[in-house]
Amino acid sequence: MLRDYALNTPVQYLKGVGPKKAKLLGSIGIKTVEDLFYYFPRRYEDRKNFTPIANLKEGEFYSIKGEVIVRGSRQSKRSRGMSIVEIVVSDNTDKIFCVWFNQRYLKDYFKIGQKLILYGKVERYAGRLQMSSPEFELIQNEEEASLQWGRIVGIYTLPQGITQRTMRKIIKDALDRYLPYLNDFLPYDIRARNNLLNLPRSLLNIHFPDDLEIQKDAHRRLSFEEFFVFQLPLLLRKSKIKEKKGLIHQVEGELVSSFIKGLPFKLTYSQLAVLAEIKQDMASPKCMQRLLEGDVGSGKTVVAAIAVLIAIQGGYQAAILVPTEILAKQHYEKIGYWLSNMGDEKRRIRLGLLTSSLDKKTKGKLYQDIKDGTVNLVIGTHALLEETVEFKNLGLVVIDEQHKFGVGQRALLPQKGKNPDILIMTATPIPRTLAITLYGDLDISVIKEMPPGRKPITTKWITSDKREWLYGFIKENILKGRQVYIVYPIIEESYNLDLLSARQMYRELKENVFKEFKVELIHGRLKESEQDRIMSSFKKGEIQVLVATTVLEVGIDVDNVSVMVIEHAERFGLSQLHQLRGRIGRGIYDSTCILVSDTNTPEGIARLSAMVEYNDGFRIAEADLKIRGPGEFFGSRQHGLCELKIANPLTQMQLLKKAREEAGRLLSIDPHLNARQNIMLKEKLLQRFPEYEKLMLVA
Ligand code: ADP
Ligand code: MG
Repeated sequence: MLRDYALNTPVQYLKGVGPKKAKLLGSIGIKTVEDLFYYFPRRYEDRKNFTPIANLKEGEFYSIKGEVIVRGSRQSKRSRGMSIVEIVVSDNTDKIFCVWFNQRYLKDYFKIGQKLILYGKVERYAGRLQMSSPEFELIQNEEEASLQWGRIVGIYTLPQGITQRTMRKIIKDALDRYLPYLNDFLPYDIRARNNLLNLPRSLLNIHFPDDLEIQKDAHRRLSFEEFFVFQLPLLLRKSKIKEKKGLIHQVEGELVSSFIKGLPFKLTYSQLAVLAEIKQDMASPKCMQRLLEGDVGSGKTVVAAIAVLIAIQGGYQAAILVPTEILAKQHYEKIGYWLSNMGDEKRRIRLGLLTSSLDKKTKGKLYQDIKDGTVNLVIGTHALLEETVEFKNLGLVVIDEQHKFGVGQRALLPQKGKNPDILIMTATPIPRTLAITLYGDLDISVIKEMPPGRKPITTKWITSDKREWLYGFIKENILKGRQVYIVYPIIEESYNLDLLSARQMYRELKENVFKEFKVELIHGRLKESEQDRIMSSFKKGEIQVLVATTVLEVGIDVDNVSVMVIEHAERFGLSQLHQLRGRIGRGIYDSTCILVSDTNTPEGIARLSAMVEYNDGFRIAEADLKIRGPGEFFGSRQHGLCELKIANPLTQMQLLKKAREEAGRLLSIDPHLNARQNIMLKEKLLQRFPEYEKLMLVA
């Protein structure tokens, strides 16, 4: 118990930390000693051997040590009076200029004779060597050499008010004091088999490595630990699912075959292949938990519709959960349309649409119809998850665009039936090996090809000074009879401001640029009925230019649109951009997606370039993963992936597989982790898991 007690100590009581610093640390998620131990450096500098200034090469990053020999500050004449702080640093081999912009307060840090360490990219500017805005640390007294330099030093991401040196001292003191109380919760045999460093040594060497070799070992051990703790709940969930007895559906029958016959197109080989996998699951007593991956526009909806008919064919109800009202309506209409072509059989399907905007009376009637089985296919939004919704015999749950729902939400709908089959659909495709390990509790089907006859979309990136060309291009398209989307970013944090500028732009387009055409604005805060009116008027071709927010993102189909403009494209994530782009290129016309952005950040450039280069969702997802890293890519709600602070499934696939194997082996021997050597591990898991997952550990 001493162990827990020690690690849960609030950082405030550590040496060198008072209430003020504790608050700052809290702002980056560090509340306890354990948080502190697990706050890892973002990079390392070898400060044993500094490169002499005389040997620096342009274009490379260096860490150098020297002394301030000149300092000054001035106003820039060229850049609108920007203030510049400038120093010259010498290490006796040569000197280098260092400049900072608009950080006047820095001036007082740099006294002549001050020793310091700098890190940055070396450039040649006006004929001299220079670092712009390098990171720096002042060397205060030689006594601290062992912690701050003369060794390999970790560099942390820190809030204003905590310096690198302070952070190192706090961590070092905490390690010295609490490491002796720290036991390793990874069972010994797992460590031995996988050649893993023990926990105390790993923590010590991730923060203060003796050399880069052992830093690597520490990194490997801590990554393994993260993967391992991440895989355990997935595997627990999977084994729980296996234990469940699922429904046996009647997969062949008149209903399904006449539906397929009535479709206005032929299913692709890929669609048939995934359908075969789904049928196999549904026909067996196993409880289906299948993830259906496929790029935007690959035709997942029709596959889901067939699964739905399989359920209904055997007398069960089915439900399709979607993230937005517009999408719910679209599915409702589309599936209704497909059904209308199937002859007499269509009478066996009684469709219901459940959204929160229904009036009380209609809703009440629908609840009743769902409960007594009058309605056997419900399409709906979050409203489906409400407690008042009860089914007679729910046999299949389809969840569309799963990334919009959290794991907890995902679990709610199936609970309304007795172990119904579950089909989860996603348009954020990721490489298969990665998918298996990340969605370890699901089986996976992938639609690999697009329906025939899709016109490739040309994607262009322009800067805002090309606006005139852009408007000309749009007009050309409208005059040919096409329609246009102009997407404007609105994010939650700055909703009102964003909406304001979207409105401004809309007015400008409507009153000036496109005044001879019909322009409309649609966004999520409009009344549902208003959104409906605009969407259906747009579908009918009565509106030429639709200015929209990301309400467009999910699944809206209008074949006649040939141009999509995305304003401030840098403000969208890569996957989101790809989703948006998927809204065009659906018809028979050549279409163009135009990204408008003046970004010059490396990340922004990487994202927009990827959009221009790739049309394929798998490539996009891979690029996105690389740019953002797995934690942000998957978002915090779906996975414990946001917990991955150090491990990276992209670069450490092998280690991830090993961790998964070990987790599987452990659970097969000790499914509830009750063995003595696993007690500490169990404690750790219980401490980390949300409520509903804890249940799985209870014998
Ligand atoms: P997504 O996978 O993005 O959800 P949808 O299911 O919305 O894609 O399908 C995109 C479009 O392709 C829809 O209009 C759908 O009717 C059409 N479609 C689906 N399958 C085929 C097919 N095999 N051949 C032709 N068109 C198809
Ligand atoms: Mg879809």
